[in-house]
Amino acid sequence: MSDPKRRLDVEVIPVTPLRQNCSLVWNGETRRALVIDPGGDEDVILERVAAHDLTVEAILLTHGHLDHAGGAQALRDALTKRQGAPVPVIGPDKRDEFLLSSIEENAARFGLSGMISVAPDRYTQDGDVLPLLGRTYEVLHVPGHTPGHVVFFEPQDRVLFAGDTLFRGTIGRTDFPYGDGPTLVQGVRTKILPLGDDVLVLPGHGAPTTVRAERAENPFLQ
Ligand SMILES: [Zn+2]
Repeated sequence: MSDPKRRLDVEVIPVTPLRQNCSLVWNGETRRALVIDPGGDEDVILERVAAHDLTVEAILLTHGHLDHAGGAQALRDALTKRQGAPVPVIGPDKRDEFLLSSIEENAARFGLSGMISVAPDRYTQDGDVLPLLGRTYEVLHVPGHTPGHVVFFEPQDRVLFAGDTLFRGTIGRTDFPYGDGPTLVQGVRTKILPLGDDVLVLPGHGAPTTVRAERAENPFLQ
């Protein structure tokens, strides 16, 4: 019997030399899955998809940085071939298009290979609700690390896929030409903290945390 209250499963797969946390999320009843932020190492991600016997419904991107999005195009191609039907890439806010379309150039600058640009099937914006895996994923625009950065909140399981906005004890870097520190802090305060203390935060790098812990201890939020 299908139990709609059953929590979704999540496996965090560190990808790329930058050890970015790609999340594989799936419904154990239907074996349907999402991949969030496949920055690279798509062979490793595919191996985990196969190991859990999953069908990927969509690929989600929190923002346009190469360590989050550089493997999306290759993964889309491989999954589409494996599953026999197109797998959509759901992008961040369109303001990150300039990053998604220049991944090769940026990767070359860092001496990274195998990362390629990607054109999402659709962009998202603040307030969008994505029906995926029999749940709803709420899109919140939290710019500052990049102009088009979004986070994905799943209210039933109380999980936030935070990308590079909020980390355990810190926030995303904003020292890029397009970065904006005060805007990021403001976004975390007004969009993420109100989601509730019990929310599990899965960041793009490092260990998981909770809204409660960051509200209490994160030096950027005091
Ligand atoms: Zn980033």
